[in-house]
Amino acid sequence: MKIVDFRSDTITKPTEEMRKAMYEAEVGDDVYGEDPTINKLEELAAEKIGKEAALFVPSGTMGNQLALLTHTERGQEIILEENSHIFMFEVGGLAFLSGLQSKIVKGEDGILNSKVIKEAIRSKNIHFPQTGLICLENTHNMAGGVVTPLNRMEEIFKLAQQHRIPVHLDGARIFNASTYLDCDVKDIAKYCDSVMFCLSKGLCAPVGSILAGDKKFIEKAKKFRKLLGGGMRQAGILAAAGIIALEKMTHRLVKDHENLRKLAFGLDDIKGINIDKDKIQTNILMVNLKDTGYNSDSFVYEMKKEGVLATKIDEHTIRFVTHYHIDEKDIEYTLNVIKRILN
Ligand SMILES: *Cc1c(COP(=O)(O)O)cnc(C)c1O
Repeated sequence: MKIVDFRSDTITKPTEEMRKAMYEAEVGDDVYGEDPTINKLEELAAEKIGKEAALFVPSGTMGNQLALLTHTERGQEIILEENSHIFMFEVGGLAFLSGLQSKIVKGEDGILNSKVIKEAIRSKNIHFPQTGLICLENTHNMAGGVVTPLNRMEEIFKLAQQHRIPVHLDGARIFNASTYLDCDVKDIAKYCDSVMFCLSKGLCAPVGSILAGDKKFIEKAKKFRKLLGGGMRQAGILAAAGIIALEKMTHRLVKDHENLRKLAFGLDDIKGINIDKDKIQTNILMVNLKDTGYNSDSFVYEMKKEGVLATKIDEHTIRFVTHYHIDEKDIEYTLNVIKRILN
């Protein structure tokens, strides 16, 4: 049976070119700093994102958690968007690992502004925790791949600098953001002190993310990476795929965005489904099923019978993510499956 898997871009498999590069990768012990392929990836990543230094980490979650550990001190408070990955999906690591408490703020479709953040920054008062970090997420996963515009990034970063509070960007899908904004990732990452981005999602590497920042920050983060058990040895075999992810896979994300648009507009034409057009931006689509008579579980089940996989987000919302293994024909197939179900 044909399978069209929209559950996430994390399901992408390494390309032939990646597998070949992995096979041929020169390796060494990266804890000794002797893996040439890791060193090459970290240099390339730092250069691409416009930061002094970069660190290869096993997952995006570890990259974000290292940023929290490195920027903050125990007992501080950090400002986060209410549906951000760091708050929602990192197992409470901010409290467990860094001893932080969260100051949750509300974004408009995941997008924050300086006014909201200004109100959330703690003033000097003996009773208050100190605000230790501001976290942003671009693109915003739970908002449906929505992009924070550059002027918003800039105004927030300026405010943070005035208050001497560092900004960490969860840029798991920063290349999707730069594709949508038609800018360089550097133009986004210049408005933060540190940034994490994933090689393993839309860019198809099998494992790994990058944490980037200034040299001192990365040096400190590297020690924490070791502490968490993330010091890997001949990891160049993974970095080889990461290098191809950065050099060859970023330019094609525009196709994923085109496919998502086709899916979104096709679904919008189906009775009972209404898509918020403003949120059709990158490769993630949240679909509200309320007016279809189905709840998420039953709809996901009906689609699955025909080989179309999506993720339940809540009782009436399911998520579709487009990626390397989904093409235009798969979108047509999916629209036909959904039309059949709703007829
Ligand atoms: C996927 C993701 C991460 C990290 O994911 P890992 O599965 O740990 O690699 C972090 N932030 C956002 C917004 C994500 O979508």
